[in-house]
Formats: sequence, structure tokens, C-alpha cells
Amino acid sequence: MIKSEVKVKAWRYYDRRKLHLEEAPIPVPKAGEVLIKVTSCGICQTDVDEFMGGPKLFNKLPFIPGHEFGGIIVDVGPGVTKEKIGKIVTVAPLISCGQCKFCKAGRQSLCDQLGYYGMIGYDGGFAEYAVVKAENAIEVNTPEIVHFGEILLVALRVLHLIERYSYWGKRALITGGGPVGLVIALLLKHHGWEVELCEIRNRRRQFANSFGIKTYSIINEVPEHNYTVVIDCTGEDPVIPHTFGEQVNKVTKGGAIILVGVYFSEISFTPLSHLSGEIEIVPSFLYTLKEIPALRESMHALAEPLKKMTQRIPFENLVNTLLEIEMNKDNFFKVALYNADH
Ligand SMILES: [Zn+2]
Ligand SMILES: [Zn+2]
Repeated sequence: MIKSEVKVKAWRYYDRRKLHLEEAPIPVPKAGEVLIKVTSCGICQTDVDEFMGGPKLFNKLPFIPGHEFGGIIVDVGPGVTKEKIGKIVTVAPLISCGQCKFCKAGRQSLCDQLGYYGMIGYDGGFAEYAVVKAENAIEVNTPEIVHFGEILLVALRVLHLIERYSYWGKRALITGGGPVGLVIALLLKHHGWEVELCEIRNRRRQFANSFGIKTYSIINEVPEHNYTVVIDCTGEDPVIPHTFGEQVNKVTKGGAIILVGVYFSEISFTPLSHLSGEIEIVPSFLYTLKEIPALRESMHALAEPLKKMTQRIPFENLVNTLLEIEMNKDNFFKVALYNADH
């Protein structure tokens, strides 16, 4: 047991522009929980948006954000085997009740009691130590990239959702080449999909090219029209005009547009083109428990590109980095906070 009078640091969010580095007693794992010494925590665009203009998704304040994290288990609560101590884990942040009709149908992202470490209702990983339920700490063998667990789960959800359309051919067009778009591209490629990507930023296009993915700068340049799915990962990005109408034109009859990126603005489209081609609009929100078993293998398979995608910054630099990302997104890709002694 780690003594609870030990003081540790964590970033606590109070409101927009109010994110403070504070000291507090080390969290103590309760029954069924584990204590993780966080080695890295990724910064998501959601963290930038919530810092600049939130709270929108953050609902229990103050709290510790950061939903892309992992580390080493250093203590366990009652009922959890001590054999877990010392294991390297990535955190699967979704918490579901298991009792509501959505959970029973395997749709945990719709759970009536939905929680998410570092985003919805529970403290996350912008901290030296974090406590999570034992079942949310997934053992992996790739310590440098434990901050990619959540993004991989989101990508696995997309992979699983599009399986039912693969009868039309495994061809996907992804719009938006940020970390989520690129990880989805790499995962689909790993599973035999032919993947192309639209990204307006030159540097991000070159980055995708370096992993063997063909790119276009805007969707109107894409010559083909028979993608089985178009996967939208652009998110709320002022640089990118909404291209929803164009996306429909790129999908084969019977195919689908998968919505992954979060945006709050209105979009318009013509229902007829969806109707006559029976093109579905399928939102893919977070992930479900179905994705968990494939996480470890996926992280291992994509380890090299995931390492190349990561820019490390010291733990203390969170606020400065959020401001820098907001000012100049072109200079950043997946930024992860690293604790100094790792
Ligand atoms: Zn995120
Ligand atoms: Zn539920």
C-alpha cells in the first residue's frame, strides 16, 4: 500500500481557461480499482476545445481531464489480485452500468449512466497518478504508446461498424487526417481495407503518405465515386468547409457515411441522394465493450507508426501547449504529456 499522505500533482479543470496544476494526496484505489502511475496522457482536440471554450462535454467540475492515458499499476484496491502490480496498461476510459437496455444490447456508448475517465464524470490522466476500475486497465506490451488506447478503441469501433458493408468491397475514404483519421486509416489498412484520405493540411498529407496512404487535399479532387464507406474525422475545424454533400457523391449505393468527428455546427444535405442510393448515415460515438479484446493486438501491430505520431511534452507544460495547439495546429500532431521520471 502506498501511504495516502504522499502528495502528488494533477491538472484540475475549473472552467474555460481555468486549468491549474495542483498538489493533492495520492488517490487510494477502492474495491475493484487499481492505482496507475501515469506515464503518458495524450491531448485530444476535445481537451483544447474545452480549455478554450468549454465546458461542453465536461460535466462534473472541478475535475482532472485527460482521457488518453496509461502507465504502470502500482497498487490495487480490495478484491483485485496483487499480481497486477507492475503491469503496463492502457486505460479504456468508458464506464457503463451493464444494467440498462442499451448496455444489455451491447451499446455501451449509449448507457444511461455513461461515464468516461477524463471527460464525463470521472477524473482522468492529466495527473501523476490515476485510479480506474481494474477492468478498464488493459494490459499491453508497448509502454511508449499507452496513450493511444482510447483512439484505437474508437478506430476499432469503426472497423467493426463497417464490416457489414464490406460485401461492396473493402474500400474506404477518410476525410480528416488528424490523429483519429490517421489511426483509423492505419487500422483499416492493417485489416485489408484499401484506404485513401482527404486532408487539407500539407504536412498532415505528407505524414499520411509516409505510412503509404494515398491522399487528396480536398474531397472534390477525389476522382472516384465508389467507396464503400466515407469516414468523416474532420471534427469542428474552421479551416475545413463542411463537405457532407460531396461525401454522399463518393459512396457506392448501399454504402455508408460514418460520422466520427465531433462538431457542433449545422450541416445541410439533400436527402434524395441518400434515399435513392440507400446510403446510410452512421454515427460512431466512442466505443463499446466489443472492441476491448482486440486492443492489445492492435496497439502492438501499429506500434511503429504510433510512436512516430507522438510528440512528447513535459507534464508541467500542459496549459502552454493547449494554447500553442489552438494558435497553430499545423505544428502539432498527437501531443502527449510525459511524466518526467519516465
Ligand atoms: Zn478524444
Ligand atoms: Zn448502461
